Amino acid sequence: MAAWKASSAGWRRPLTGLQSRRIWLGTGTHSTIFDEARSGRSMNLTAIIDAIRDVAAPGNQRVALHEPRFAGKEWDYVKDCLDTGWVSSVGQYVDRFERDLARTCGVQHAVAVVNGTAALHMAFLAAGVKAGDEILMPTLTFVATANAASHAGAIPHFVDSDEISLGIAPAKLAEHLSKIAQRTDAGVVNTLTGRRIAAIAPMHTFGHPVDMEPLTELARDWGILVVEDATESLGSLYKGKPTGSLAPIATLSFNGNKVVTTGGGGAVLTDDPELARRVKHLTTTAKKPHQWAFLHDEIGFNYRLPNINAALGCAQLEQLDGFLSAKRRLAEAYRQRFGSVEGCSFVQEPGYARSNFWLNAIMLDDDHVSLRDEVLRLSNEAGLMTRPCWELMHRLPMYCDNPRMDVASAERIAARLINIPSSAVLADGL
Ligand SMILES: *Cc1c(COP(=O)(O)O)cnc(C)c1O
Repeated sequence: MAAWKASSAGWRRPLTGLQSRRIWLGTGTHSTIFDEARSGRSMNLTAIIDAIRDVAAPGNQRVALHEPRFAGKEWDYVKDCLDTGWVSSVGQYVDRFERDLARTCGVQHAVAVVNGTAALHMAFLAAGVKAGDEILMPTLTFVATANAASHAGAIPHFVDSDEISLGIAPAKLAEHLSKIAQRTDAGVVNTLTGRRIAAIAPMHTFGHPVDMEPLTELARDWGILVVEDATESLGSLYKGKPTGSLAPIATLSFNGNKVVTTGGGGAVLTDDPELARRVKHLTTTAKKPHQWAFLHDEIGFNYRLPNINAALGCAQLEQLDGFLSAKRRLAEAYRQRFGSVEGCSFVQEPGYARSNFWLNAIMLDDDHVSLRDEVLRLSNEAGLMTRPCWELMHRLPMYCDNPRMDVASAERIAARLINIPSSAVLADGL
């Protein structure tokens, strides 16, 4: 059940030498921290912990950041796989899961794969990314986006985020491209590195959709293909349209901590039958269809989702509407409760979007940014699992020398953001 455990490793930001001096004014149950160096303002940290507990854990139980819920036909469908022997990479549940996903996301084709990282890897290859190309992506993302680009032989080129959507800021990217990019016969080239810029990979952070209209327009102006990383946003809508349907090719993840899970899994979404065929071919060892012969026409991958995982996915998708309304109720309860907490604010969906609220988050006011780790420590000690944003990609050792623009907003978001418990089950009493 503790799916968050696997994905929570390694998130801790190394301590810098810039810790401010703090004085505890602990009185009974109320801990006030006076943050001397930064602001001279005090903040009642207990009020934040109380707000999380009031919404997520009124019975005082421990709560995880995000747990899956199996309340539908999961047992029936998985048992059916075992009873019939169809457990592996072919079977009726794979076909059905792909059909259900395509319908849910409003696209023509879905190809199920072993995880979201593999989905991104395949989407980049199918989009024509070549070794040595650059892919524009937010520095504020989970490492899988950057790793998948690397697996495709490409170089992640990091972009700043918007402080409302938490995703790529189209206007800032436009300005950056106008400074560093040039149109050539070989495509758009980064004049600083001499490399081709092959794709833009917006990621819908915690389920909140990127402002896709201006981004799509920018991509069209430059002739750069968009690969939508919708791994966190199954069920989210941008101006009424599902994320995953907003670019020529998109990806989903069904890891244990996502809105819908198959244990591990992912999918590539597209309207283009040729791209879908290409992804299916690449993910199935590039085997040519034949009754008995093993003929492969290129170096393929073994990335197909097993039937037993797809069975889980079919049962989970049947409950998607329920998950989404539960998560919306939970987010609304947090929004109301945090309305009266000073020093921080609840992260809301952008005005143009309907978010799946995959992971809820609060943002500390600028005055209190140095208290983030104290909030994390106190809440985790109280049994309420919280965690900071991912370490920004350009700060990780393997990506610290990669090309990037000024990422001041992403830095500012990452310094202040805290994810709070978000499982659909927490909305049961709401
Ligand atoms: C979950 C996630 C992925 C895919 O992760 P897998 O664990 O490989 O399924 C990719 N990108 C982002 C931003 C994610 O959150």
